[in-house]
Amino acid sequence: MEGALGKLLDRQALRLATSSSEAGILDGRLVAAEVRRQVQLVVSRLRGLGHSVRLSVVRVGDDPASAIYVRHKQRDCAAVGIASEEVHLPDDATFERVLDTLASLNDRDDVDGVLLQLPLPAHIDPQRAISSIAAAKDVDGFHPDNLGQLMAWASAVEPATPRGVMTLLRAYDVELSGLDAVVIGRSMIVGRPMAQMLTRANATVTVCHRHTTGLEHYVRRAGLVVAATGVSGLVPGDWIREGAVVVDVGISRGQDGKLRGDVDFADARSRARLITPVPGGVGPMTRASLLENTVVAAARRRGISLRHDAHV
Ligand code: NAD
Repeated sequence: MEGALGKLLDRQALRLATSSSEAGILDGRLVAAEVRRQVQLVVSRLRGLGHSVRLSVVRVGDDPASAIYVRHKQRDCAAVGIASEEVHLPDDATFERVLDTLASLNDRDDVDGVLLQLPLPAHIDPQRAISSIAAAKDVDGFHPDNLGQLMAWASAVEPATPRGVMTLLRAYDVELSGLDAVVIGRSMIVGRPMAQMLTRANATVTVCHRHTTGLEHYVRRAGLVVAATGVSGLVPGDWIREGAVVVDVGISRGQDGKLRGDVDFADARSRARLITPVPGGVGPMTRASLLENTVVAAARRRGISLRHDAHV
């Protein structure tokens, strides 16, 4: 299954993207479109077997960014034929109410995936809330059982962002085995699972974080840099090793209102071999990976093997 996506992509387009003296672009929009196409095929196959696929997103409070993210998720679902619904709870919803809501979604047979939109209001403990989602429906891959399975090297549902990064790297045939990789950031949703997946792919991984001294040293020697901090300009372009691959997960908004990554893109591009843009790199891959996780969860719950489906 792994690597199949790359074979299906338009190789010619990728070669064109990587033929100039500047770094080629790791085009998340292009690869995400292919992932969505494959998810759509699986949705149709499941429908043919009499099963529709449904995602429920629980949003607590009125964080404006969260409202937008949930809308995007619902739009993405609609585009591939996955039904979706939002359950919106007020900012002052009690922890018990959140747990009750999740419990009822766990029990519903027509719901395949349950997702708790982060961040949560301060009085809701995210770890405890996430742990109450049925692991089989945890399409974010944040439930301790699913993260534990990731550690055990076999996980069907993986956190969407690192999963999307791995799909993107595979699509461009980036050879990870033996590569010196640095992951900057160690959050549960990006940095740590990312390091685990890269280790599984036989890279030698260094994890850096806010307490790391001498970040430059680690970046300079890395053949793959995955930056996931949200600190704009944290990685100057001249730290990037000649020919390295750069994946910029970070997102922050500059004073001009434009989105920026953690890496100085223009300078890094003149040294790197491949680099993700912000926006248009990791973001679309994260969104597409959530759809993958949802159809994987739907199929597994019904005992349907997706082994022969191209990528999912
Ligand atoms: P987080 O705040 O949970 O973690 C940030 C990490 O960065 C921490 O581990 C911290 O130690 C590290 N860090 C902070 N300052 C640092 C510094 N000066 N030097 C080294 N390390 C430093 O954030 P997160 O949820 O992991 O997200 C990280 C970034 O990725 C954010 O900008 C977020 O918006 C973005 N993100 C993007 C996508 C996407 O799809 N593109 C998905 C998830 C997160």
